[in-house]
Amino acid sequence: MVETSLYQTYNRADLSFVRGEGVWLETADGRRFLDCAAGIAVNSLGHSHPALVDALKTQADKLWHVSNLYAIDGQEAFATKLTEATFADRVFCTNSGAEALECAIKTARRHFYVNGQPERVNIITVEGAFHGRTLATIAAGGQAKYLEGFGPKAPGFIQVPFGDHDALRAAVDEHTASILVEPIQGEGGIRPLPTECLRGLRELCDEAGILLIFDEVQTGVGRTGKLFAHEWAGITPDIMAIAKGIGGGFPLGACLSTEAAADGMVAGTHGTTYGGNPLAMAVGNAVLDVVLADGFLDGVQRKGLLLKQKLAGVVDRHPDVFEEIRGKGLMLGLKCRAPNVDVLRHFRDHNVLAVGAGENVLRIMPPLTITEDELEEAVSRIDAAADAMDSELKRGAAE
Ligand code: PLP
Repeated sequence: MVETSLYQTYNRADLSFVRGEGVWLETADGRRFLDCAAGIAVNSLGHSHPALVDALKTQADKLWHVSNLYAIDGQEAFATKLTEATFADRVFCTNSGAEALECAIKTARRHFYVNGQPERVNIITVEGAFHGRTLATIAAGGQAKYLEGFGPKAPGFIQVPFGDHDALRAAVDEHTASILVEPIQGEGGIRPLPTECLRGLRELCDEAGILLIFDEVQTGVGRTGKLFAHEWAGITPDIMAIAKGIGGGFPLGACLSTEAAADGMVAGTHGTTYGGNPLAMAVGNAVLDVVLADGFLDGVQRKGLLLKQKLAGVVDRHPDVFEEIRGKGLMLGLKCRAPNVDVLRHFRDHNVLAVGAGENVLRIMPPLTITEDELEEAVSRIDAAADAMDSELKRGAAE
């Protein structure tokens, strides 16, 4: 008998939340969970942030939707905030990360098309990457588990092993349009690309005359303590995809580009029905106002260091459960020794939420607005969950 009308594409946890406030999520029966996942790095300002609720309600009373055939209230302001704060000159609004990536890929290919090099179509990516679930972005991510059964892999995506500079260099040829990377792989297991690698990528792209695309869907909008993670390396991309945190929970993404790289994206080449709609713009502008306010990112850096330091203590106390803590700002990964799904079960038993990732990692990505007291509370729950995991391991060994 069919028990659900939904596609069975998720292995959902047996939990459902009915309200949220700040870092707290509440079930219908009143259980409160400390949210150290923030969606998956989406609720950048926590749940029900007053500025976002107010922006959305105010806009809902005025106007929900007009087509991109007209100037949309808030879109110009949103784009200007982003261009003033970044390398970019142009912004295309989307509803999701995958769509922002699609726009980035199209922008890169079209740039070479209009500049007399139409053969430059290939996008080089890195193993372990995740760029979304559309046909192009599963090809970009290159992971067999996401490609299997969906017909021929979209052509034009070449993958090189993580950290293999020689392979990367060797993959660049006269058909290459761009290199696409996440500055810190999220789904891949909080795997940072070292600063010198990011700088090396910029140099390689400049030497080869190709475009550098950063996927900052997960790392962006303050998550690592800078507005965008690549800023730590002191370099800039030509094109960048963002989403998740920029909408704080409202579906919103964007593709940012330099003027030069976006030169092929003229009228009629790309479009979207909902991207940049008035509701999304109201929320996106409100998120940026908070994140760009004086001191906000300093606070994320400070809290990130504190959390990393405290979680390092938890790792030291539980060497059979955890191997290391890695990542930057409030984008941290606990690499587990015990299976991460088992550790996550104990987290949930202690009413704290995290999210799994590749390499047997648990991602710890609380709202950027988490207070220091709440951080302490998160760490003490994680410590208690690790104790419980330890006991389970010991019981297993004794049997
Ligand atoms: N890129 C990265 C780095 C991501 O983490 C994700 C989502 O997890 C995506 C792209 C795809 O974003 P979306 O699910 O909004 O399409």
